[in-house]
Amino acid sequence: MKNNDKCSFCGRQRKEANLLIAGVDAYICDLCTEQANLIVREELKKKGNFKLSKSKLLKPIEIKKFLDQYVIGQDDAKKYLSVSVYNHYKRLLQPTTDDDVEIEKSNILLVGETGTGKTLLARTIARMLHVPFTIVDATVLTEAGYVGEDVESILTRLLQAADYNVEAAEKGIVFIDEIDKIARKGDNPSITRDVSGEGVQQAMLKLLEGSKVNVPPQGGRKHPDQKMIEVDTRNILFICGGAFEGIQKKIAKRLNTQVVGYGASKQREQVDKDNLLQYISPQDLRTYGLIPEIIGRLPVITYLNPLEKSVLRSILTEPKNAIIKQYKKLFDYDGVKLEIEDKVLDYIVDKAIEFKLGARGLRSICEIIMIDAMFELPSGDEKDMFINLDYAKKKMEKANIKRLKAA
Ligand code: ADP
Repeated sequence: MKNNDKCSFCGRQRKEANLLIAGVDAYICDLCTEQANLIVREELKKKGNFKLSKSKLLKPIEIKKFLDQYVIGQDDAKKYLSVSVYNHYKRLLQPTTDDDVEIEKSNILLVGETGTGKTLLARTIARMLHVPFTIVDATVLTEAGYVGEDVESILTRLLQAADYNVEAAEKGIVFIDEIDKIARKGDNPSITRDVSGEGVQQAMLKLLEGSKVNVPPQGGRKHPDQKMIEVDTRNILFICGGAFEGIQKKIAKRLNTQVVGYGASKQREQVDKDNLLQYISPQDLRTYGLIPEIIGRLPVITYLNPLEKSVLRSILTEPKNAIIKQYKKLFDYDGVKLEIEDKVLDYIVDKAIEFKLGARGLRSICEIIMIDAMFELPSGDEKDMFINLDYAKKKMEKANIKRLKAA
């Protein structure tokens, strides 16, 4: 090797590089090999990230088991979700055949109070499948031409989640949250002119039913000069979620009118009045204000249970990435062993219930209890941290509870 040899990639002279590796007719410097290594890894990751394969597609029972690791309870929702996801991707991975039995996709509607795990379920499914996933809030969507986001922006986000790999995006999952908020207000559509409700539902229809949509790659309003990307939504799985506050009344009313007559009293007894969502039907969604076409595109309807005390308690410690496990790990990085008394965990659950914060509140309460320890311990010599009930109560009393209540 001579001194005037140089890297064939970046042109660095031998003396400018730490190392120059010789090939048959070329050289490469250490910096370029590092760069190339990075590129290779990034590219492989991108490809590997979104790889659906028939052999890896779990069966419904296995999908549910996977969900069980992350989501506590909600067995009915898990079962419905597992079956529809399995069917959806099974259909998608089949070679196209000539027979005319075309299996339509089954978008899913999850109905349940806020904080009961709807988003978590959708996110966990996407993680299991290694498909692009995005969450959108239906409340920001408006009809084209009004202030807010066009429905197409949903696909922009999915494209971004897929690193602009259109083929991957076309097999992705979109979670549309707060779908109940675009319900038509009032039963009679002619009375209220309802820009944000029915119009958005109409606009959303074309995504749900599967069509080719021109998507502005960077989002924002459609612009005549902007180059659009065509996305086919036929194989995108839409999971919609909503609390449908007050729908219980409509369900109750329907159940009551249905059970008059012979055997009525017997049936009525069986109705679990505390958890009416489990009886939700397309008819209730219609009276709530979803248009029939949208309901038709959400053939799988399932519900989530309100979280009971025992479930909240399990959420703290049991899921694979349970909140308490996360704190233990955080402390562990600093070489500190964190122990929490069981009574503290019960106390956290009680506070979450007291302030009506649900599962989402568990973390905020943990933060309040843990913040001083997390602030001080990394700089100290203490290698053990034991949190007992007294300690937890003191931290909670000290904290600005008002802030938590408002959350
Ligand atoms: P939703 O979408 O129904 O409003 P999320 O799925 O966003 O609720 O739940 C909020 C948080 O509460 C989640 O990030 C998770 O930590 C926790 N959580 C809620 N329900 C469950 C559950 N059933 N199992 C485990 N964690 C849950």
